[in-house]
Amino acid sequence: MKFDWFVVPFAVGLVGLILFLTLKYVRWILSLPKEERKKIRKSFFSTKIFAFVWEVFREALLHVRIFKKNIILGYMHSSFAFGWFLLIVFGAIEVEFANSRHANHLYEPIFFRFFHRDPSVLEHHAFFTFIMDAILLYILSGLLLALTKRLYSRLMGMKKTTRLYWTDKIALYSLWLIFPLRLLAESSTAGIYANGGFMTNHVGSFLANLLPLEKIMYPLWWMYSIDLFLFFAFLPFSRYMHIPTEIVLIALRQAGIYTKNKITGFSQLEINACSSCGICIDACQIQDVLGRQNMIPAYLFQKIRHEKVLKPALYDCLICGRCEEACPVNINILNIKVAKRNEKLNHKHQQYDYLRQVTTELPKTQIAYFAGCMSHLTPSIKKAMVSIFEKTHTPFTFIDEDGSICCGRPLQLSGKIEDAKILMQKNKEIIAASGAEILVTSCPICYKVFNEEYQLAIKVMHHSQLFDLWSKQGKLKLNAQPIKASYHDPCDLGRGSHVYDAPRHILNQVITLQETAYQKEHSLCCGGSLGNFYFQEKDKVQVAQDAYDKIMTNHSEMLITSCPLCKKTFQKVAEKPVIDLAEIIDKALMQ
Ligand code: SF4
Ligand code: SF4
Ligand code: SF4
Repeated sequence: MKFDWFVVPFAVGLVGLILFLTLKYVRWILSLPKEERKKIRKSFFSTKIFAFVWEVFREALLHVRIFKKNIILGYMHSSFAFGWFLLIVFGAIEVEFANSRHANHLYEPIFFRFFHRDPSVLEHHAFFTFIMDAILLYILSGLLLALTKRLYSRLMGMKKTTRLYWTDKIALYSLWLIFPLRLLAESSTAGIYANGGFMTNHVGSFLANLLPLEKIMYPLWWMYSIDLFLFFAFLPFSRYMHIPTEIVLIALRQAGIYTKNKITGFSQLEINACSSCGICIDACQIQDVLGRQNMIPAYLFQKIRHEKVLKPALYDCLICGRCEEACPVNINILNIKVAKRNEKLNHKHQQYDYLRQVTTELPKTQIAYFAGCMSHLTPSIKKAMVSIFEKTHTPFTFIDEDGSICCGRPLQLSGKIEDAKILMQKNKEIIAASGAEILVTSCPICYKVFNEEYQLAIKVMHHSQLFDLWSKQGKLKLNAQPIKASYHDPCDLGRGSHVYDAPRHILNQVITLQETAYQKEHSLCCGGSLGNFYFQEKDKVQVAQDAYDKIMTNHSEMLITSCPLCKKTFQKVAEKPVIDLAEIIDKALMQ
């Protein structure tokens, strides 16, 4: 048996880590509701396993999504993940070739060159040493980039990198040391026994000219092993917890599990799968315009992991989804934030007796129109909608004409999920009583919640989608207007519901659209969000001004949006007119 005492720190660290992680993951998974655990079992024995392996390869090892954001950043991340994986795989194969028995010790591939010093007796020695040196070089090149990123993050398309917690720092520096220590340990052995490859043999000869290798070789192997122990010991308490956790997360996602209104074991997996890569930092407008950072997921999740959530970190957020869109791990950031808000509240219900008086006696038509409270506060939009229905001779039922009740989304955003359910139940009754086949909303916030949460038996459309449908059916005859305008994708319609094309199809028939870098999924929030409970009026104005300046091009004569709240917010800062899609359609409609 090949053994030396220096392997003990590595072995203790690895076994301890495996036990700790197993206990943690089992606890999280067992805390899931019964039906979700059943889903996991079913998915485990289905073809989803192939999709799981493919996604682990693409995202946990190669980091394809990060490559798409920035090639150098992608290369850096993949060199650590994929490089280390290759080192383990080829190391294990090399040990198989070197040993006649198959049950090898876990540490043998890691410390192979210490134990196998005579190259002449090893099968395919030249091949393996070349491969192992090439992989180590690949990782070391990534390490150089990681160091550069700390000093000059813009090289990798990032304005800011994440500030680290002390446990992260210990894990980070021990990770950074692992590969140079491996190089030094292997090279020192190679300098004495010439058992290395193209890199380690050369570094070994170089070191032999400078240092007494016989004396330093053994301490170097010890240092390498101790450093591995340190990394394993701090991994669960640092951002590197994301390495094993992302793999479990992918498996559960494949089974169809996701975070909804409550923090569950799955949310814990999501929070721990955050690599603190910092990609979400630049995406956040509160950070960019106002310089505040608490709410950024990179920091919020860091705090949650260390059980230190401060209120502003949860409530000072636009729930705009820019961070979620940017996140390469696809963490459901917004649902986690809202669920966490729900956790923090004391659940005293408000009084909803007035709901009994809300009538459900409605005229029956094919289309039910729900303006929503935001459109009632921006009456020009609901007026335009009524006018469009009349001009197109479309019978409709205006189900909240008298102001009626809210869709429930603002309550959800504040974390009052149970209160939101009461309103939602009443709305469901009203919608069912209308007998309509299509529910049309003018507010993206209402659209998202009716579409995703109500599970209505009828079709839900935002007005942009209705206009698009009518235009395709030849029902909308529009006069082109000699106007050049910018279009703003509202958060809940764009990133939140992926409705990007419908408003553009229709606008292209009426005006000349000005392209900007801040459109579709890269759209900026207007700042008027119902989700932020810490915003002062001046904050709102600053964010709105910044967004307005970036969206408007030199040629834009007006700003068009599809959200009553965006219209209201932008109007406060705009020099040029701000109008809703419904208003321009009403204007352009031939009678
Ligand atoms: S939330 Fe996503 S983007 Fe932000 S630091 Fe974590 S992994 Fe990176
Ligand atoms: S949702 Fe928007 S405001 Fe909130 S942290 Fe993400 S990017 Fe920032
Ligand atoms: S008002 Fe518009 S831009 Fe602002 S948060 Fe809501 S949808 Fe997004």
